[in-house]
Parts: sequence; C-alpha cells; structure tokens
Amino acid sequence: MSRIYNFSAGPATLPEDVLAQVRDEMLDWHGAGMSVMEMSHRGAEFVSIAETATQDLRDLMAIPDNYKVLFLQGGATGQFAAIPLNIASADARADYVVTGSWGKKAHKEAQKYVGNSVVSAKPEGSFTGIPEVSSWDLGSDSAYVHITPNETIEGVEFHDIPDTGDIPLVGDMSSTFMSRPIDVSKYGVIYAGAQKNVGPAGLTIVIVREDLVGNAQANCPMVFDWEKQADADSMLNTPACFSWYVSGLVFKWAKQRGGLKAIGETNARKAAKLYEAIDTSSFYSNPVDKNARSRMNVPFLLADDALNADFLKQAEAVGLSTLKGHRSVGGMRASIYNAMPEAGVDALIDFMHEFEKGST
Ligand SMILES: *Cc1c(COP(=O)(O)O)cnc(C)c1O
Repeated sequence: MSRIYNFSAGPATLPEDVLAQVRDEMLDWHGAGMSVMEMSHRGAEFVSIAETATQDLRDLMAIPDNYKVLFLQGGATGQFAAIPLNIASADARADYVVTGSWGKKAHKEAQKYVGNSVVSAKPEGSFTGIPEVSSWDLGSDSAYVHITPNETIEGVEFHDIPDTGDIPLVGDMSSTFMSRPIDVSKYGVIYAGAQKNVGPAGLTIVIVREDLVGNAQANCPMVFDWEKQADADSMLNTPACFSWYVSGLVFKWAKQRGGLKAIGETNARKAAKLYEAIDTSSFYSNPVDKNARSRMNVPFLLADDALNADFLKQAEAVGLSTLKGHRSVGGMRASIYNAMPEAGVDALIDFMHEFEKGST
C-alpha cells in the first residue's frame, strides 16, 4: 500500500493514524460487536462517543461555557440559510463582508431569509485581499456581520479577527477551523463543514453564543433551528454518526499533537516555506496580499498556463495529488490542512523546483 500526498481542498486528507484506528475499530467498536455505523444514536455507546468528541472540541478550542456546540448536517451551505433564519428577522439588515467565492454564496443565500442583506465591504477587482476594517460600511442596527475567515478558493485569510463592536460576528470557518488557536469569544457564531480540516463529509459544526439561540424565524426548518438542536444535544433527528465519531478521533489526535498552539505553529511553518518557494521563483506566483495569505489553501500560477497539464501529470506521477486550482482562478492550489504532513509540503516544494528547472 502506498498513500499519496493529497492536496485536495475537500473532502481532504485525514491523519493516517486516525484512518488506521477507524479500520481497527470497524467491525467491533470497543467490544460492542458492531461498527459505529450500525449503532443506535440513542444507545449508551454512541452517546459516549458524541459527548467525548464535544468535550474534546471544547478543550481544544477553549470554547467558553456560554457557547453551544452543535453537530449538524446540511454542510456550511445549509448554514448559509440557517444563520439568517436563526439570528435575523425577515425585515432585518445583515452585513456581509465578501472576500471570495464562498462569502458571495453566503450573501446570496441570505437574501432569501433576511429583508436587507447587504454587501458591506468587498475588494475592488479580484479577490486578492481584505478591505480595511475601517472602510466597512456596517449598519448600526444589523443583526450580524458575516465574514469568511478563510476563502478556500482564492486563498485569502483574515490573520486577525475584526472587531465589530456590538454587532455579532459570524464566521464561516470551514477551511480554517482548528488550524490555530482563536479567541472564540470574539464571535457570535462560528460554523464549519467538517470535510476540510476535521473529518469526513456530512457533518457541520456550529458554535454559537447562548444569547443568539432561541430567536429563530417561525418558518425555520426544525433541523436548522439551533435552539431545538441544542435542547436535543444535536440529536433532534439522526445525526451524522460516523462522521461525528471520526471527527472525535481527529480531536484526540489534535490533542496528542499538543493542541491548536502546536498545530498552528506547524501550519505556519508549512505555509511560510511554500510561499517562500513561490515568491523566490520567477516561474511561480501568488497574487494575494501578503497580509491576507491563507495558511490552509495556497493557490499559485505557473508562468505559462500551457504547462499546467504537464505539471499536474508529473506531480501525480510522484504521488502529489489533486493540485489543480479551482476553475474560477485557474493554476494550482495546494491545500495544506492540519493532516497534511510537513513532509508532504517539502515534497511539493522539491517537485516545484525540479519542474521549474526542467521547464526553463
Ligand atoms: C467548502 C466550503 C463551503 C461549502 O461547504 P459544504 O459543506 O459543501 O456546504 C462553504 N464555505 C467555505 C469557506 C468552504 O470552504
């Protein structure tokens, strides 16, 4: 068996140790005589899996007690609708800071559920940076301000959490969740699809401050009603049991590696060396402002687009997989989430040097 280095943006690479543990526990989880996939979500075994995972996530992210942690379905895209449905009335204003493709989609979806969904800031031209916070045109009585802390496609990341005063800050952290320590208390709501940096697809994590729970619009589907889900420990209906279980193993793995501080340091090192390889070459380039470059998704262009196909083919041949950039920006994209070993980034950099030598 040989595993590749998988640079996919999502679903994405998972820690090999976790996969091996899942394999070992597949047929008989801890003497239950069945797999986690086959268990009742109401049984003591699964309830203990769910509770342990929730507590481990609370520990890892130092989530304050006055926040609910929900394990839902419907993806980050489901939350694009759930956010206005839970924390805005139909005639309210909501502010969207749009720094890439996902923020654009979130804003568009919100228009269905909130009367005045406003793009309060976006960069001029293409998505290669973050407009100064002082230039954001926020409404004084807005229900919330939505940001995308890491734009997965364009590779644009907030390096600091903006201060929006009394207006609750909502962050779609899908592709940067658990990538480094953050101050959860600066957000009203954090949400993330699991399949980027946490676990298998099918699970969406929502972390929400208690005072924002309990005001859902009357027509909010009950599976998206945070209050109903919180009251039911995220088991209003059958949850994504298997994804929740695997994510729990990833939380344990993250703890064993020293938690988010240690993981964040490794991520910073991985990203810095990859950007350095790009910046010190005249063959590769990255258009994003240095103060807004993503540590998780690193897009880069080759000097000549005609070489893209060859680059991908040769990379694949040496076990460096899924480097093709999103079609909207072209070129390449290396997603280097928590589970991408530093050796994978080193191998990519070596390959980039070799390819450049062979092509110039
Ligand atoms: C992948 C992604 C999404 C979409 O997630 P789904 O779980 O497929 O709905 C939304 N926002 C960001 C930032 C993403 O990276």
